[in-house]
Amino acid sequence: MMLSGECFCGEIKYRISGPLVDPLSCHCSRCRKAFSSQCSNYARVDSGDFRWVSGEEKLTSYVAQSGFGLLFCSTCGSTLCGTTDESVHGVVLGCLNEEPELAEMHHIFVESKASWEKLPNGVKVFSEGRQANDRR
Ligand SMILES: [Zn+2]
Ligand SMILES: [Zn+2]
Repeated sequence: MMLSGECFCGEIKYRISGPLVDPLSCHCSRCRKAFSSQCSNYARVDSGDFRWVSGEEKLTSYVAQSGFGLLFCSTCGSTLCGTTDESVHGVVLGCLNEEPELAEMHHIFVESKASWEKLPNGVKVFSEGRQANDRR
């Protein structure tokens, strides 16, 4: 399935020709700030399956000390992608245009979620990270 995504103002658009892997929602205090939300919403993508369609020159980035970076639109502020070593590592699910087929979302660091956030019933939760798989 070909997926597409874009920022809020629509100037930056991308396409993904492969699967989205390991959908993750992290509720830690750092992700709340990085994603301007109650949690992150993110899935990995093979960088070879990802390409910018328009507006790439509008991208700006912030790289955290961990080396994990975020790419966002310099016009509207939407956060679009995560990067490692300056190559696209995954996408923020909120900017996708389609309803992707996804494995079950894992909610991590729910022990440090904001007190005002109420998690829906039945979601897969981890009090902290998921040892082997958590590379965020
Ligand atoms: Zn934009
Ligand atoms: Zn986090």
